[in-house]
Amino acid sequence: MPRVTDGKRPWSRWYGLARWKRIREAQLMAEPLCEWCLESERVTEATEVHHSEAHRGDETKFWSGPFVSTCKSCHARRGQLEDHGKTIVRYDASGWPI
Ligand SMILES: [Zn+2]
Repeated sequence: MPRVTDGKRPWSRWYGLARWKRIREAQLMAEPLCEWCLESERVTEATEVHHSEAHRGDETKFWSGPFVSTCKSCHARRGQLEDHGKTIVRYDASGWPI
C-alpha cells in the first residue's frame, strides 16, 4: 500500500522534529498574540506558527521563515488559503482593505 505522504509533502514530517518545536516556541514567545486578529483589532492568544511566505518545500524558507504567530481559527481559515496560493484580501477594523 502506497504511503500518501511520500514525495508529495515531504515537509509534513519536519513539523514533528525538535528543531521545529524550538522555532515554534521561540516565535510564540516573541509574538504571543495572533497577528491576524490584531489586524482586525482583536486580541487573541497565538497558538500556531505560520510561514508568512509559502515555503513550498523549500528547506531554507521552512526553517528560517519569515513566520507569523496566529490563533487556531485564523490559521485554519486563512493559512489554508495561503498554502493553496490564493490571494487574501484583508480588511482593517473600519472595513477598508489593507
Ligand atoms: Zn487570529
